[in-house]
Amino acid sequence: MRITLVFILTLVLPSVLLSAFALQAVEAERVARLADRARSQEVEVQGVVHEVDELLQGRARAATDALRAARARTPAEAAGVAARLVATEPLFGGFVVLDAAGRRAVPTGPLAPPSWPTTGVAVALGGCAGAALCPDPLPLLLAAEERSTRDREGSLEMLASVIRRGSPEATAAALFDTGRIHEAGALLDTAPGATPLVGGMHNAREAYEALSALPLRRIDARARPVALQARFRHAMILATLKRTEQARAQLVALLDGLEAEGDLLPRDAVVELAERTGALLEDGAALARARDIAQRRERVEQAAARIEDLFGTSMRGALRDAAVARRGRAPGGVPGLLAAAGDAPAPASASGGAAAPAPVLFKARAGDRFEIVVCAPVTREGGGVAGLVALQLDLGALEAALRSRVLARGPTHSLVPVSEQPEARLDLAVAPLRPPLDHVAALYRAPPDTTPAPLGLARGTMTVWGVGLSIAGIIAGVLVTISTVRRETKAAQLKSDFVANVTHELKTPLTSIRMFLDTLLLGRVNDEAETKECLQVMARESERLTRLIEQLLVFSRIESRRWRLRLNFEHPRTMVDDALKVLADQLGVASKEELGIEVVAVQELTLVAADRFAMVEAILNILHNAWKYTPEPRRIRVVLASRRRHIEIAVEDNGIGVPRGDRRRIFVKFERGSNAEEKRIQGSGVGLSLALSILEAHRGTITYTPLEPTGSRFSLWIRK
Ligand code: ADP
Repeated sequence: MRITLVFILTLVLPSVLLSAFALQAVEAERVARLADRARSQEVEVQGVVHEVDELLQGRARAATDALRAARARTPAEAAGVAARLVATEPLFGGFVVLDAAGRRAVPTGPLAPPSWPTTGVAVALGGCAGAALCPDPLPLLLAAEERSTRDREGSLEMLASVIRRGSPEATAAALFDTGRIHEAGALLDTAPGATPLVGGMHNAREAYEALSALPLRRIDARARPVALQARFRHAMILATLKRTEQARAQLVALLDGLEAEGDLLPRDAVVELAERTGALLEDGAALARARDIAQRRERVEQAAARIEDLFGTSMRGALRDAAVARRGRAPGGVPGLLAAAGDAPAPASASGGAAAPAPVLFKARAGDRFEIVVCAPVTREGGGVAGLVALQLDLGALEAALRSRVLARGPTHSLVPVSEQPEARLDLAVAPLRPPLDHVAALYRAPPDTTPAPLGLARGTMTVWGVGLSIAGIIAGVLVTISTVRRETKAAQLKSDFVANVTHELKTPLTSIRMFLDTLLLGRVNDEAETKECLQVMARESERLTRLIEQLLVFSRIESRRWRLRLNFEHPRTMVDDALKVLADQLGVASKEELGIEVVAVQELTLVAADRFAMVEAILNILHNAWKYTPEPRRIRVVLASRRRHIEIAVEDNGIGVPRGDRRRIFVKFERGSNAEEKRIQGSGVGLSLALSILEAHRGTITYTPLEPTGSRFSLWIRK
């Protein structure tokens, strides 16, 4: 019980505590590292989120700023800037422009038909009076044309007066608008006197020529690209007149114009005229160019339709809110649009410090994809919103740009759709991008942790080793304790056996001395001879007693290491003889010869350095055992031989021998052979270990060899 307690207190408890501390330390270190890693992973991922946001906001702001810097005051002007942005900035996929009323203005949006209150009167008046009243020549021209069938003279006069009063462009546009320029030209050419009319325009060719001079983007009241169509028809007439070179130059100029401004013109006209022009030019390059123009225009149209489809409601809402805000009421759900429109505090450049308003971004889902537009207002000259430009961000291009930027940070960084983000793991950090890109998440995958753990071991290995060592420590502790306990128990047992044996050994001679003393004292002896015999026994027994005590004293001296060898050159034979003499004494035999122990010397022996007293003691012990463990008829002999480095003193007997299992054990202090115990032969288990200690002090040893059929040979090896 006490041992168990000691064991627990001295070994198990400290081991367990140490292991617990060690594991806790390892765990604490692991947790600290993990926390560090998580922090740095978070920093990495937020870095990406920030960078992406900067990029998107930067591009959106650049677009808004470009519109503001271009000072686009009308939807048409703003559309020109937007078209240029789309053509030059790969991140923008398309655009659409709304007017203040929320109608699609450009591309292809219809212009508001001018309403002239005086038109009806002008038409009714006709002639110069009518032309003076009505700045739009179209109704008058239509009226003149209509009159031509029944009143040719009146019709011509009306036509001439309209042409004289109006600007050449307006008139030409009006002529074109009637769709009958040829007829009108012919009408004019066949007029009496055929006087050249305004600007020398007196036939269809000249009418088209005048129209061709108009800006290409000019659209008539029915949203037809007047100048564009006139240029084409002019080229056609030139071709008809066989002025091929001029016709060709006109067509090439037409392609140039389409390339520059086609995106802002009505789609059908652009596509049709581009294709026809390409075909007329009859060369591969022109054809390809024309096809490109047509395709691009188609794309612009599709993008515009898509934007309007997805964002029409939001954009119109933004316009409404801007209008409401202008009237002094709070703006609705589109913060920033008015600020961006310039109604709010002056922009950064003007105020020299105030931050530019954040760009307005709208996001919508289209099937499994998202679309994003950047909205910028079109501001009127005196302030106020004239319309709204929406630029579509090409999300594919944007994501590709983002990915290449993010991937440039290393293979650890990537972008994934939010819906596909992986399960949370320790080596992963994920964060959604900021709106409107919040459907995408930035992902950082930490590289494997290669930082060496303390002791240069990998962390996992260290934990395994820590646990393993602790367990091994506990097991070793348990084993050591068990073996110590067993050894101590055994020692205690041996000591108590020894005490019992020694006591017995001491008591036996004392008892016989006492017995003979009593005999003498009580006068029970009859004669001198008996008295002498008694005294002799007593002397022998006291001699035996002395011997035993001496033996114990020698042993304890050797044991206590206070003993020092007194070496002299001794002859082995002499030492054997001395031992035999002592043995004879101990056994009460008159002389050593009577013991009947034969001493054989195989060769001439040399002297050896030995402590004579100790060595005789050792030999005596062996001889005594041989005598003790050999029943009659006893045959004991001592063989002396000179070996290579040793002198061998072998004591051979035909006794009971030592059982195989005891042959090592018998040399251990207090150990006795099972044979000795069985046969109840008295002894203390000290003799052999004492002899071995003496021989070892002489740098020699003792060996045991069993003899056939029975008996033992104990050899004492003394260093030469
Ligand atoms: P003990 O006092 O028991 O003789 P020793 O140390 O002298 O103690 O001997 C140890 C054991 O060796 C003995 O108990 C005995 O079993 C065995 N032994 C020693 N010498 C002999 C021998 N000559 N023949 C048989 N057994 C022997």
